[in-house]
Order: sequence, then structure tokens, then C-alpha cells
Amino acid sequence: MRAEIDRQNLARLWILAGVVVFLMLLFLRREWAYLGMSPEELGALFRVEAIDPALFHWVVGYRIATLAAVLLIVPLAWRSRQDELRLGLVIGAFIVVVGGLLIATATLNLAFRDAFDLFYLQVFIFSAMFFLRPWLALLFFGGAFLVYAVGANWVMPESTTTRMGALYTNVGIMTGLAMIIAIQNYRIKFRELDALETTRRDNAALQQANRAITLSSETDSLTAVFNRGALDRDLAQLQRKRLPFVLALLDLDHFKPFNDHYGHQAGDRALQAVAACLERGLKRRTDRVYRYGGEEFVVLLRDTDMAGGRVAMKALRRQVEALAIEHAYRDDESRVVTVSIGLAESDGQQLAADVLEQADKRLYESKAAGRNRVMPAA
Ligand code: GH3
Ligand code: MG
Ligand code: MG
Repeated sequence: MRAEIDRQNLARLWILAGVVVFLMLLFLRREWAYLGMSPEELGALFRVEAIDPALFHWVVGYRIATLAAVLLIVPLAWRSRQDELRLGLVIGAFIVVVGGLLIATATLNLAFRDAFDLFYLQVFIFSAMFFLRPWLALLFFGGAFLVYAVGANWVMPESTTTRMGALYTNVGIMTGLAMIIAIQNYRIKFRELDALETTRRDNAALQQANRAITLSSETDSLTAVFNRGALDRDLAQLQRKRLPFVLALLDLDHFKPFNDHYGHQAGDRALQAVAACLERGLKRRTDRVYRYGGEEFVVLLRDTDMAGGRVAMKALRRQVEALAIEHAYRDDESRVVTVSIGLAESDGQQLAADVLEQADKRLYESKAAGRNRVMPAA
């Protein structure tokens, strides 16, 4: 978060540096032309009798020094952008150096006094553009004010104590206000980023919870395959999009006697084992197993025709048989848990309910034909 605030500080420093460079170049272009003029020519330009040409040497010198300082400090700021302390110090240095240079020029030529006051006020106000932690703000504005106080004393040695007192009071108030703005900026920015971060975290948690709810709402709690609701939804979707599919209805054979002899808990375990076996046996990512109800499952194979579906379901039937879950109490010769399977297909035009009904008929045929088989057989 602090890194983000520093990033924004840096962006503002670029803007401020850009403005300073632009103004300095603009002024330089004009003042450069004054350099060769006589005192009278200069006087005519400014509507006074005469101006000492040396004044403009100082002016041009000041502009160039400021430009150089900015061009030196900006890369420093860029390099220290990862380190909040160093970046803070560089921003502070920028403020103090630009002001300090003006003092230096003003010290050399007293004609700069007014510009000195005005410029320094601007520096204070500009610095309020940044988001400063309280201790950094205190450092900069305190430092800047100190530079100003010492500089003003230098520039205006003949001023009365009363005048200097008034000046310090005014500039002091300005500095204090600018400092409060800079700190306030930081507080507001910090809270804003904090709130944003919290919202982002909350959103992520909500999404996670949502996914978990969705998953649990479409999963059968005993067997962990998809539930009846998920089947209805998927069938409705296939029907709406007119997509072809094969639907297989599976029913465990002689499961009532299994429960009666081995108990319901063993029955539940057998259902879980069969469901897991079906899921493992699916080949494509879009193939799905659903618990249709009781000891009945549905397998949905998208983009498949009857021939392909039959091959896939025959393999699943074999795999369930290969689980070899003991079932000694059935009417026929088999001694393990098996499934009977009825198949139906849709070319995209049939109603899902009709396909289910067709599969149910085939399942009945499969049971009648002796169980543990896939119908239609060919
Ligand atoms: P068939 O081969 O004709 O299907 O004979 P069946 O005994 O399997 O007959 P039916 O399909 O009518 O029997 C359903 C039995 O499945 C009834 C019940 O004992 C058992 N069953 C259904 N749901 C569950 C379940 O969630 N857990 C357990 N343990 N048993 C279940
Ligand atoms: Mg049944
Ligand atoms: Mg059954």
C-alpha cells in the first residue's frame, strides 16, 4: 500500500519536474536574448531608465542551475522508487534545492527579493501535491522553512525586525497549511487504498464461498457424483442448444437383497464404490455421472452416437463387475454386484424427457433379459 502511495508520489514528482523544466526553458529562451543588451536597451524593455546587464547573467545562471538540479534529482527519484525513505528524501531534496537555488541567486543580486518570496510560497503550496507521511512532511516543510528563514535574512539584511517577523509569520502559516494538506493527502490516500484492498479481499472470499456452494448444491452427498438437479440442468441445456448426446440409465441388480443381508451401511459403501468406479471409467472431460435416485445412476455422453455409447457403457459394466463386491444373495448365478444399463440417444431434436423414458424402457429390457448387460445390445 505504501509502495502504491510512493508510486503516485513519483508520478506527481514527474509532473512537477516537467512543469519546472518547461517554465525554466520558456524563461531562458527570452532571457538569453537580453544577455547582449546595454543597460539602456534593457531599461526600455522594462520601462525604467536602465538595468544592469549583470542582473540577467544571474537570472540565466539561476535558470540553468535549476534545470541541472531537476535533471539530476529526477533520475535519483526514479532509482529510489522502491525505497520509501529514499524516495521521500529525494522529493524533499527537490523542494529544498529548487528553493535554495533561488535564495542563492537572490543573495547574489538583491533585485530578486520579491521573486524570492513569491517563489517560495509556490514551492510550499506545490509540495502539498504529495502524499507525505507525517514525519516526512515535518522534515520537508521544516527543512524548507529553515532554508527560507535563513535565506530571507540573507537576502534582506536591511529589513527591520518587525518586517522580518511579519514575513516569517506569514510564510510560517503557509508552510504549516501546506504541511497539513500533504499529511491529510496521505491519510485520505491510505484509507482509500485500504478500503480498496479490503473490498478486493472480501470479493475474493465471496467468490470462493460461491464456488463452494455451487459445487455442494450440485453434488450428491453420499456418492459425490453429480445429483439429480445437476442432471436436469444439463439435460435442459443440451435440449436448448440442440446438441446430440447418449444417455445411459444404470440400476444395481438385486440390490434390495444386498441391503437386506449386508445392511444399509454396506449398501451405501457399495453405492459409493460403484459411483467412483463409473467416474473413473469415463473417458472424456465432458462425460458425467449423476446419481438419479436410490441405486440408479445416469451417465451422460456428449457428442456421442449409439455405437460409441454402447462401447463406453459395456466397458463401464465390466469395470463394475470387476470391482467384485460380494453379493451372495441374488437370484442368479452371479455372486458380485453388477449393473443393468439402458441406453437412449438424442440427435439434438428429441425432448430430454423422451430420451429418459426410452432409456428406462431399455433398462427394463436389460433386467428382463437377465441383468448385468447393456441394452440395446446392437
Ligand atoms: P433389480 O435388479 O430389479 O433392480 O432389483 P433391486 O433389488 O435392485 O430392485 P430395486 O431397484 O427396486 O431395489 C432398490 C433398492 O435399492 C431398494 C433399497 O434397498 C436400495 N437402495 C436405494 N437407495 C439406497 C441408498 O441410498 N442406500 C442403500 N444402502 N440402499 C439403497
Ligand atoms: Mg432401482
Ligand atoms: Mg436395482
